[in-house]
Amino acid sequence: MSYITIMLENFTKQLDSLKIASHFREIKDFSKKDEKYIYFNDKKLINLSSNNYLGFADNKDLTDEFLNSIGAEYSFGSASARLLTGSLPVYNELENLLSQLFNKDKALLFNSGYHANVGINSSIAGKGDVIFSDKLNHASIIDGMRLSESKFFRYPHNNMEALEKLLVRERNNFKNAVIVSESVFSMDGDIADLEKLVELKEKFNCILILDEAHAFGVFGQIGLGVCETLGIIDKVDLIVGTFGKAIGSMGAFAVGNKTLIDYLTNKARSFIFSTALPPINIAFTKWIIENKLPKTYEKRMQMLSIGKKAGSDSHIIPIVIGGNKETVETCEILYQNGYFTLPIRPPTVPEGTSRLRLSLTTEITEQELNNAISLAKQTK
Ligand code: PMP
Repeated sequence: MSYITIMLENFTKQLDSLKIASHFREIKDFSKKDEKYIYFNDKKLINLSSNNYLGFADNKDLTDEFLNSIGAEYSFGSASARLLTGSLPVYNELENLLSQLFNKDKALLFNSGYHANVGINSSIAGKGDVIFSDKLNHASIIDGMRLSESKFFRYPHNNMEALEKLLVRERNNFKNAVIVSESVFSMDGDIADLEKLVELKEKFNCILILDEAHAFGVFGQIGLGVCETLGIIDKVDLIVGTFGKAIGSMGAFAVGNKTLIDYLTNKARSFIFSTALPPINIAFTKWIIENKLPKTYEKRMQMLSIGKKAGSDSHIIPIVIGGNKETVETCEILYQNGYFTLPIRPPTVPEGTSRLRLSLTTEITEQELNNAISLAKQTK
């Protein structure tokens, strides 16, 4: 018997136990998507599982308008990493636009939020350094820290007292220290205590990195994120944002001090060793941020107020069910009633807190959300 047979038998066993525990993941065959609806198994469903918060993705009119405005100027492949031959003016233009908006020295584009967080968190701290990370930070931050040669600690979610105790105990045992957090937490929709994080990073001589993946394009007058709302952009050392969610595109960025960005350009391996995003994609991101995002303020605030009325700090509303099986069943009931939701299960969320993660878009009404929530609660 060749070894692959033995290995596949082992994999099959692991997959079978995932199935038994309602953990098994499969890619679904959607037939179509537009800004508000998703089409699945011949059903048209309100999509409550989308990160397309402002409806910029899957919008045919918008795509048409963009393509008509640029013609064949930008290609669909960069054919190289930025540091080799993969850079063109449009990349620098987008980076300059971002650094101007944030009023920071410099920005750096990454191919995705995953690339950004892995690249940053693996390189920013080295041997003898330390990273303090919120327990619920995204997998990409965790993976970055795991690749780093630094020590890292995960403090209980949004627990500033616990973080301070940890800093008192550990800070002086290390050279450089980094605190890293999301602003809007992707699975809970709550917001980190950013003012306290700033206070702690100053008190304990750390730098602060904030991942605004779910807030960029949603929070703030311009749409820069929660830091803009709170007026603390200048207090955060490195801000990460992504384009795959509210912007309806793909990719990510980090903005900060010139030396910090030059350091990442030289050390973040996910930036150095990967082909740059296509020029047409960069041009689309820039076009959305310049031309479309500024017109969304009222709609964004309306969406956030619907979220608030549903008890969340943001446009992400978790409905914690508990068990995996019950969560999958709740999704099925919502599906039968015209809503598309996804069960979020461990390891994405802690064991016993499987949930529906309802996310709003500017198209979803308060009544539609409330209806979905009461259906989900009835089944609990
Ligand atoms: N950070 C957070 C907080 C996220 O939720 C995600 C995506 N779910 C990412 C980073 C990764 O971004 P991307 O999808 O662009 O890789």
